[in-house]
Amino acid sequence: MSDQKRLFFALPLPADLQQRIIEWRAASFAPDAGRPIAAANLHITLAFLGDVSAQKQRTLSALAGRIQQPGFTLALDDAGHWPRSQVVWLGSRQPPRGLLQLANLLRAQAARSGCPQSTQPFHPHVTLLRNAQHPVRLPPPGFGWQLPVREFVLYESRFEQGRTRYQPLQSWSLNP
Ligand code: ATP
Ligand code: MG
Repeated sequence: MSDQKRLFFALPLPADLQQRIIEWRAASFAPDAGRPIAAANLHITLAFLGDVSAQKQRTLSALAGRIQQPGFTLALDDAGHWPRSQVVWLGSRQPPRGLLQLANLLRAQAARSGCPQSTQPFHPHVTLLRNAQHPVRLPPPGFGWQLPVREFVLYESRFEQGRTRYQPLQSWSLNP
């Protein structure tokens, strides 16, 4: 249907943090480790919704607006390689409870609104490289950034002119 959009809820990363991460990535991974994700596309997915009609989007958006949760700080201090999805990721050794609660709530709301959710447990992460087909030498521990999370965002994913772009559609503040 023509009114469908490919949507997901995610945490944005500020532009300066995106920049610092790609500099560290360039210094820490072999050039042939995988396909680097563009700085502006670095994010943490909370719930993937798939192709959604305008009406379903309104329902999901109304439910998201009811979420009352305090903000939290996320340490990005872990990295790994998932061979099956061929993804190299940046994550957290100890994800804050608030993050897991927020993602679980959005995923439950999505499932109830007819957006089937993966049965896999939620592993909050920033995808750094794709198509990482071979074993990857991971950077030594010691890296890490603190991400203060004050809002979450509904994005539309669009494939245009040969590349994927994420368009922010709506955002919601977490409680101070
Ligand atoms: P592309 O698929 O164009 O290479 P992408 O994967 O970043 O780029 P989307 O497929 O639109 O773009 O995905 C948007 C976000 O949702 C990404 O974080 C992606 O990892 C996540 N995502 C995509 N499909 C699923 C899925 N089936 N289950 C869970 N998360 C998904
Ligand atoms: Mg994809």
